[in-house]
Amino acid sequence: MVKHPSTHAKRDLYGLLGPLLDLAEHDDNVIGTMAGVFRAGNTRYGIPRFMFVGPRAPHDPIRLGLFAGIHGDEPAGCEALVRFLGELSRTPALAAGYDLVAYPVCNPTGYEDNTRVNSAGLDLNREFWRGSSQPEVRILEQELRTHRFDGIITLHADDTCDGVYGYAHGRLLNEALLQPALDAAEPHLPRDSRLLIDGFEAKSGILRECFKGVLSPPAGQQPHPFDIIFETPALAPLEQQTSACIAALHAIIDEYRRFIAYAQNL
Ligand SMILES: [Zn+2]
Repeated sequence: MVKHPSTHAKRDLYGLLGPLLDLAEHDDNVIGTMAGVFRAGNTRYGIPRFMFVGPRAPHDPIRLGLFAGIHGDEPAGCEALVRFLGELSRTPALAAGYDLVAYPVCNPTGYEDNTRVNSAGLDLNREFWRGSSQPEVRILEQELRTHRFDGIITLHADDTCDGVYGYAHGRLLNEALLQPALDAAEPHLPRDSRLLIDGFEAKSGILRECFKGVLSPPAGQQPHPFDIIFETPALAPLEQQTSACIAALHAIIDEYRRFIAYAQNL
């Protein structure tokens, strides 16, 4: 987060985060903090982190990490997390049994400049778990290590596709969660049904393979958390992309709750 916005050409981080800062101030279920701070040029930035504590349920709280804006030129996911937490604040029962930790702007310098890369010129989503020196990556890796999320959802947008799709990393649980997420998004945007998406084989909008170095759980975390990357078409209207992301998020937490209830009854 920029401390003293200096030029009007930059996109306004405070404008984006304002509703969440209001929530953190007024809703006891929302806690707003910084995951970490760093300096780029003469400006201090932070990776904002907002926790939403849902009403308790008969099971241990399910802790999810929600990430957006790793690529600074994909604002729909950022907006979606802001609005999603707003919806949960108004209707907390939607998040019963969950502790959600949202990172709406993982690449604040890129968000400001509307660039995919950060201000050092790097694609942060190729830097994870490779000993990166980029502060954004180090901060987020530390979050992933310490929170030990039960599941992570990362929102992205792709300017080479016409519809929604997602990465399931070859795991059945991820596919089982991604499927309803894509279904839920379809009233807002079509599904990308191509057989090859972003260079990977795809089936009904679900990709098994993925790039290396993307934001992901730490290797070896047991039990392995679910891990979904949800993509909207970056050239579609922002409002539709945002709505599609929000619908997908609701669908995933609903479906995972069903999965947990089923697993407990086995
Ligand atoms: Zn992206």
